[in-house]
Amino acid sequence: MQRLMQIYLVGGAVRDEMLGLAVKDRDWVVVGASADELLALGYRPVGRDFPVFIRPDTGEEYALARTERKSGHGYAGFQFHASPDVTLEDDLARRDLTINAMARSAQGELIDPYGGQRDIAARKLRHVSDAFSEDPLRVLRVARFAARFAPLGFDVADETLELMRQISQSGELEHLTTERVWQEFERALATPQPLVFLEVLKQAEALTRLLPEFAQLDLGLTAPALNRLKALDTSPESCFALLCELTLATGTDPRAQQIIQMAERLKAPNRFRDLAVQFCNWHETLYRLEQVDAAKRLEMILSLRLLKKNSHLSALLHLTQARHPDFDLQLSIRLQDLLLRLERISTQDLMRAGFSGKALGQAIEAEQLKYCSIF
Ligand code: ATP
Ligand code: MG
Repeated sequence: MQRLMQIYLVGGAVRDEMLGLAVKDRDWVVVGASADELLALGYRPVGRDFPVFIRPDTGEEYALARTERKSGHGYAGFQFHASPDVTLEDDLARRDLTINAMARSAQGELIDPYGGQRDIAARKLRHVSDAFSEDPLRVLRVARFAARFAPLGFDVADETLELMRQISQSGELEHLTTERVWQEFERALATPQPLVFLEVLKQAEALTRLLPEFAQLDLGLTAPALNRLKALDTSPESCFALLCELTLATGTDPRAQQIIQMAERLKAPNRFRDLAVQFCNWHETLYRLEQVDAAKRLEMILSLRLLKKNSHLSALLHLTQARHPDFDLQLSIRLQDLLLRLERISTQDLMRAGFSGKALGQAIEAEQLKYCSIF
């Protein structure tokens, strides 16, 4: 039988183009072909048992049309069936959301068997079929898409939220690895409205199961601070730092220690942990930089390594501004001024003046304190 290999653009690229957004990366589905045919055409397989290939000249992903069947727990428990007789409609049926289950042919025709266009217009995140429940990762993905597209007016369809709740109650979420959860969380932190991510997880009864650290966060109180931050700084690291600070009860507890434990449990990269610890430890001092004494100013500067080129100064200033809406921006200019003066303290000059060893260290500190006192 004569088969015709056909290639379709699918997933995020079709969706984002329809939303009028810039398309970042393009995913393709190949119908009517076998792995051997793609290999013969020079496509490179991404893995051994996965029907996905990279086209060498563009680096873009081409997946053989496939169906999936659940065969075990969690994300690994899937059996693929990829063969030339799997249709485009079959492949689109296994996808998570209707807005992600559209395809465009080489001729520009839209293939939309599950109502993606309708849901784009209705601003609804809606599952494609009941097979949605087979992959617990989708709970996180939907929450992340809700956060990403909240500014466009999207929310989660009631029936999809109900399925997400059922997944949570089934215990399947416990099969997601910590790495997978962190990966989705980190992406959600970079969206315009990370609190929507947490809110949707809460509504799906998944928050206490996946990210219990943030289950006590007062979403109403956090929103204004986070909105102020996002206007200044969209990095996921800064967002994480603010959420950590706000979620830990203000008290005498060693909060840095709590953050370190939290970051370890979440398997957050160190740069997330470090900024969060620095912010928690020093935002009050930064905010009251005028009132504190010279020794405290110097202690902060040295502890935050603000004299080093790769310090987190700008993130810390953004965070402090977000946390304390009446933070005086003049203070940040004066701090940067002070840092310039401290940088100009010359060890060589002090050595030429006869200081060495321990006395040299003391002389440098005395100079630093002198500058810090005329803040
Ligand atoms: P982005 O712009 O973030 O890349 P995307 O929609 O392209 O968004 P990808 O993670 O790149 O998302 O996945 C590509 C497509 O594969 C999705 O649009 C969706 O159709 C499908 N997909 C990915 N992961 C899943 C999943 N866990 N369950 C069902 N479908 C999925
Ligand atoms: Mg994509």
